[in-house]
Amino acid sequence: MKTFELIVPCFNEQESLPVFYEKVNSVLDSLDGYESSFIFVDDGSSDKTLEVIKNLALTDEKVKYISFSRNFGKESAMLAGLSFSTAELVGIIDADLQHNPDLIPEMLSSLESDEYDIAAARRIDRGGEAKVKSAFSKLFYKIVNRMSDVKIADGAQDFRIMTRKVVDSILSMREYNRFSKGIFSWVGFNTKWFEHENSERVAGKSKWSFWKLTTYAIDGIINFSTVPLKISFLFGGFVSFAGLVYALYIIIRTIVKGPDVPGYASLFSALLIIGGLILLSLGIIGEYLARIYTEVKNRPDFLVDETNIVKK
Ligand code: UDP
Ligand code: MG
Repeated sequence: MKTFELIVPCFNEQESLPVFYEKVNSVLDSLDGYESSFIFVDDGSSDKTLEVIKNLALTDEKVKYISFSRNFGKESAMLAGLSFSTAELVGIIDADLQHNPDLIPEMLSSLESDEYDIAAARRIDRGGEAKVKSAFSKLFYKIVNRMSDVKIADGAQDFRIMTRKVVDSILSMREYNRFSKGIFSWVGFNTKWFEHENSERVAGKSKWSFWKLTTYAIDGIINFSTVPLKISFLFGGFVSFAGLVYALYIIIRTIVKGPDVPGYASLFSALLIIGGLILLSLGIIGEYLARIYTEVKNRPDFLVDETNIVKK
């Protein structure tokens, strides 16, 4: 009998949770040879999410929960679930049934042999998603994979099941600025991919605004790559070199043809371009500096308000 825990990050999911529980519980009940349980992580919801979870816990001893003191974000919720987990196999799934729970039995059986340590889902279509959004996320994967040391599969999701050794490896990465998609890929191990189609949320609405997704994408690039720093270095070098060549040209022209007064336009545009590049480079350096700042402060990733898990 293997133990299996399923982490469910929940932020204002009072409508989705009853449907989610009913569906996923029947999948877990149908599993053969696994002793399974839920770890619901209430990420500081402002609705009745925690109440719903506690009611489930009253009737079902498989239901474990952790409740945060405020909203810390899905990254922290996943980390909390992982650090409270003790099972041999640990899964992560969204509470809105966008991740198809019917894949769970297959994912688990793929981990039975020693061949794979991770079973992860990847969506093959982006149905039910705005065109602009999917265009931007495609662009994001292109940029990340070009720039960083880690490779992230397009459409890779947080929906996954991992063996204990993968979970422990993830937990050994103590960085504060966590970008799970990068971390999951960085730790390595053999991954078996499961492709599935995108489905609509069962209830409630997505917590990701366009702005949140944009900053998430910047996090993804900055946290796993120092290439942007090199870009500003190269840019600066190139601009200075071009300026030098241009200066040389002007000197020679002045010697040959005599002085030439007009040229405010070109001067002014050069000033603007170079000024812009300097600001851009400073901004990039600033992003890294900010990361170092939050990293050095070494604050906890989340604060637990209540839980029914007795920590090992
Ligand atoms: N979530 C969370 N904390 C947050 C935002 C989201 O725990 O600050 C949870 C949410 O309850 C859901 C999962 O993360 O279970 C995915 O969120 P969502 O469905 O809003 O994202 P999307 O599917 O649109 O990417
Ligand atoms: Mg969702």
